[in-house]
Amino acid sequence: MSMLRFKVTKEAFSRKAVPVNYPNERPSEYYGRYVFNREKMFKYLPKKTYEAVIQAIDNSTPLSREVADSVAAGMRKWALEMGATHYTHWFQPLTDGTAEKHDAFIEHDGKGGVVEEFSGKLLIQQEPDASSFPNGGIRNTFEARGYSAWDISSPAFILDKTLCIPTVFISYTGESLDYKTPLLKALNSVNKAATAVCKYFDKNVNHVYSYLGWEQEYFLVDESLYAARPDLVLTGRTLMGHESAKNQQLEDHYFGAIPSRVEAFMQDLEIECHKLGIPVKTCHNEVAPNQFEVAPIFEETNLANDHNLLLMSVMREVARRHNFRVLLHEKPFKGVNGSGKHNNWSLGTDTGVLLFAPGKTHKENLQFITFIVNVMAAVYKYNGLLKASISSATNGHRLGANEAPPAIISIFMGKQISEVLAKLAKSTSEDVLNMSGKAGLKLDIAQIPEILMDNTDRNRTSPFAFTGNRFEFRAVGSSANCASAMIALNAAVASQLQEFKERVDALIVAGKEKEQAILTVVKELINESKDICFDGNGYSDEWKAEAERRGLDCETSVPLIFDNYLKDDVVKMFERTHVFTPVELQARNEVKWEIYTKKIQIEARVLGDLAINHIVPVATRYQSLLLDNVFKIKSLFPAEKSEQIATQDMEVIEKIAHHLLTIKEKVHTMVEARKVANKIENEREKAIAYHDTVAPHLDEIRYHIDKLELMIDNEMWPLPKYRELLFIR
Ligand code: ADP
Ligand code: MG
Repeated sequence: MSMLRFKVTKEAFSRKAVPVNYPNERPSEYYGRYVFNREKMFKYLPKKTYEAVIQAIDNSTPLSREVADSVAAGMRKWALEMGATHYTHWFQPLTDGTAEKHDAFIEHDGKGGVVEEFSGKLLIQQEPDASSFPNGGIRNTFEARGYSAWDISSPAFILDKTLCIPTVFISYTGESLDYKTPLLKALNSVNKAATAVCKYFDKNVNHVYSYLGWEQEYFLVDESLYAARPDLVLTGRTLMGHESAKNQQLEDHYFGAIPSRVEAFMQDLEIECHKLGIPVKTCHNEVAPNQFEVAPIFEETNLANDHNLLLMSVMREVARRHNFRVLLHEKPFKGVNGSGKHNNWSLGTDTGVLLFAPGKTHKENLQFITFIVNVMAAVYKYNGLLKASISSATNGHRLGANEAPPAIISIFMGKQISEVLAKLAKSTSEDVLNMSGKAGLKLDIAQIPEILMDNTDRNRTSPFAFTGNRFEFRAVGSSANCASAMIALNAAVASQLQEFKERVDALIVAGKEKEQAILTVVKELINESKDICFDGNGYSDEWKAEAERRGLDCETSVPLIFDNYLKDDVVKMFERTHVFTPVELQARNEVKWEIYTKKIQIEARVLGDLAINHIVPVATRYQSLLLDNVFKIKSLFPAEKSEQIATQDMEVIEKIAHHLLTIKEKVHTMVEARKVANKIENEREKAIAYHDTVAPHLDEIRYHIDKLELMIDNEMWPLPKYRELLFIR
């Protein structure tokens, strides 16, 4: 069996870079080729239709059936010209990733043949079978079917030979069954709330956009090596494997040249992304061996998120072309950095102002301070929710480990901003009066931007950092749908801004001058929420103790972290912002718990199987070789001498016996724990049982397997080792 390991290692080792098919045109020419963007709409739609669609996109209004029919006809014409044969509603179910149901364009022509048809009805609405997607009981409580509907703010695109139409996915009773629907609601809510606050400063602001620039980290593994690791294939991570003698300590990977096979992959990926209108800008090495990152130019959040989901599927495909498998799991390898997906997030007005960027004038800076302080307050109030929004069985391996954001949400503001906020917080009402006077806001912000850009990004241990003109939510997992984090963050900030406006308006009504009222509330907010700010080392034990004292959410059990979604203030916040109803929140949590359970359940099964069928037999075989050897020694040498010569082997035999015994025992108890947990009906209780009583066995069993890996003849070890998985490329 270990033959397989050597065969695949050899295969992987001898691979050459796959040549990239470079297009003949410039990137600016093929950019967006497969996207039905405004340019294509203009070309393929009648003028009236084009105008109606643009109108609908810009004002988020629905399309009439007539317009839809006309759009569908134009879209079909374009798609057929591009060689598409199928179409699908492309949506984001509550499992991560996307779902599609491909239908051919063909319809009966009534003469025994077919025509290629695509009506407005099919464009606007379809009915995928909701029962095949997780819905947390919504299906049972309400109407059975769900439908998908075109999100016209995200353009249709062609992937392979399929026209993909980005859609929301909703139950017939109106509950969202996906990520896109609540994301659009959260974006709408933050737009309204932020626009209202912007009007204090500039009456011309009519829209506030939320922007997202994600940084996608991933690992590449040679496909042959991957295929020889059932744990990678089935769970996305290695459930066993002793640390390689060398891993990332030299940090030579980060600064090293990109390996040629990987470079070919990256170039190919970039070309594919550009054709799909994904503005990928950088591809580079990451800290861990065989770990890389790809990041685009930021876009409006809904589109950026669609693009991230699309990227993840394109990556998988392109990787295959290059004989790689891409690992999007947050923690594929123990002892090596995990993968995240930093969410760079900001708000900007339709007048072109980035609201988290310091300005030049007094008024601009008051607006800047207003917005970052409201973000601070939102993150403070909803820190538990934000943590829940990025928590999953897979990201759970990353958070709290000594390399990724800790399992406590805090904000890193950077020295300059912290000083400004501290100064503001301490100011007396007289100071406030002076500050808002003609002399302007004396906060010394004017010279900050340049310093900020250089200094803000240094604290890598912070899960939520201010980075000069945006916030960077770093705790998001590499495999996640960013929407989860973006829904929570945008909704929380929307709700906070609503509250801020109410407080300021109340002061104005009571007779305070506008700027004074704003400054007063800003000052109060800093004092109320400064406990969320932490600029120190987020991995330290002192911080854990301190965070506990400050009342921040310190829970580490993923199923319990999910409870945050159902806490009173969170439910109210989501209701106030019209993002989720209590019913939806309950149902979605059921799904979260269910998925958590299933992930651990699968890992437990795979590990049990690998331990008993792959590792135990090999270890036993090796042990028996040693036993043989001891027998031979004993038959050849006199007793005293043979005792001495065989000591070494005897010790190893005993150690192997110990590990074998423990592995078998622990696999047995793990199976029993699973049986008990499986009987639990309540999804929450079941997930907790899996977390508390099943998951710990995974680590324990692994410990003993990893010890065996160090003892057993390398020639016999069946699974590709870490040094092979991480260093062959
Ligand atoms: P890093 O130094 O953290 O690796 P980069 O400078 O490469 O990051 O930028 C990371 C991401 O942040 C990119 O996607 C970039 O487009 C995005 N970004 C930059 N400015 C903003 C902003 N104002 N709002 C949202 N995203 C932004
Ligand atoms: Mg970054």
